[in-house]
Amino acid sequence: MKKIQMVDLKGQYEEIKQEVTASIQEVLETTAFINGPKVHQFQKNLEQYLGVKHVIPCANGTDALQIAMMGLGLKPGDEVITADFTFAATVEVIALLQLTPVLVDVNEDDFNISIEAIKKAITPKTKAIVPVHLFGQCANMEAIMELASAHNLYVIEDNAQAIGANYAYKNGEKVKAGTIGHVGATSFFPSKNLGCYGDGGAIFTNDDALAHIIRGIVNHGMYERYHHDVVGVNSRLDSIQAAVLDAKLPHLDAYNKARQEAARKYTKAFEGIDKISTPKLSNNCKTICENCDCHVFHQYTLRVKGTDRDALVKHLNEKGIPCGVYYPIPLHLQKAYADSRYAETDFVVTNQLVKDVISLPMHTELDDEQIEFITSTIINFING
Ligand SMILES: *Cc1c(COP(=O)(O)O)cnc(C)c1O
Repeated sequence: MKKIQMVDLKGQYEEIKQEVTASIQEVLETTAFINGPKVHQFQKNLEQYLGVKHVIPCANGTDALQIAMMGLGLKPGDEVITADFTFAATVEVIALLQLTPVLVDVNEDDFNISIEAIKKAITPKTKAIVPVHLFGQCANMEAIMELASAHNLYVIEDNAQAIGANYAYKNGEKVKAGTIGHVGATSFFPSKNLGCYGDGGAIFTNDDALAHIIRGIVNHGMYERYHHDVVGVNSRLDSIQAAVLDAKLPHLDAYNKARQEAARKYTKAFEGIDKISTPKLSNNCKTICENCDCHVFHQYTLRVKGTDRDALVKHLNEKGIPCGVYYPIPLHLQKAYADSRYAETDFVVTNQLVKDVISLPMHTELDDEQIEFITSTIINFING
């Protein structure tokens, strides 16, 4: 059996080596390392893939979130609601811009931001909601957009984990994750579903005026050379990373299918095991997606009940099976983001999830023998 990896970047690279090398070679030959034609080409191809009017590439996913908030003109003291159960980058940029983060609880079934919790957290100072499409599946965007329109709030989608996922509306219409809110932000960190070979990110919007503002912000607030109209940042996707991404984009749907296939096999193997709860599909997926393309399984995350999760992690590691705990500490308990306004009763679900969750190896190169070994090792441990 091949050595099991949490993410197999090498195996994936071997399959597309020629395309990637040729694409990088073009950049080397033209020496257009910054804002070269490859960046523009990738931007256009991604716009077409997502069905969104504007993609603005930038240096990483954290910058993408920050720049989106800057573009919307959010001001110090504005309250921004986001999930307690996510990667810290989401709340970090809110705090960095001196906005006020308001962390709220998530749903037990899909790990995404709770609509009821958002409703309770809205105040006259609330200016934006940042749903995170955690582990590869969209938050309930239909409900979030309704709330936003009723309260005049911006919606910034953190799409770092769900590129290529579809969101299914009640009426059956489907759109790509990250293109529903006023603005979307994504990351091309190597282990993301569409990853480059370094850092990268992008911002999406259908709003022409906002796209124009953001294009200036990523480039030192310049709209005309050496005229700095607003305070900006230096955040660029470099041409070599764009070359890698442009070579990989045509494979994204196949990569996501491979993840879904691995997820389907995991779930089947765990059927009937009471102490394991497998990932649930949400948002109309069950009813209208045949071969569900709504969840792109950035992570395949189980909840274990009546089992010592940390002992399971240790056991798997001893057997040569890597696994991850995303995330072990709720953001509201992190020193940087603690706030006396929070009560533990506000985070009942998150506080439980951090004890229960375990993410299994998930990438495009998992084979049946590996999946069999991983699932049987877990089941044997749980059955003691
Ligand atoms: C990866 C990630 C980010 C940050 O992306 P970087 O490119 O690493 O800056 C933001 N939010 C979430 C949910 C992520 O998973």
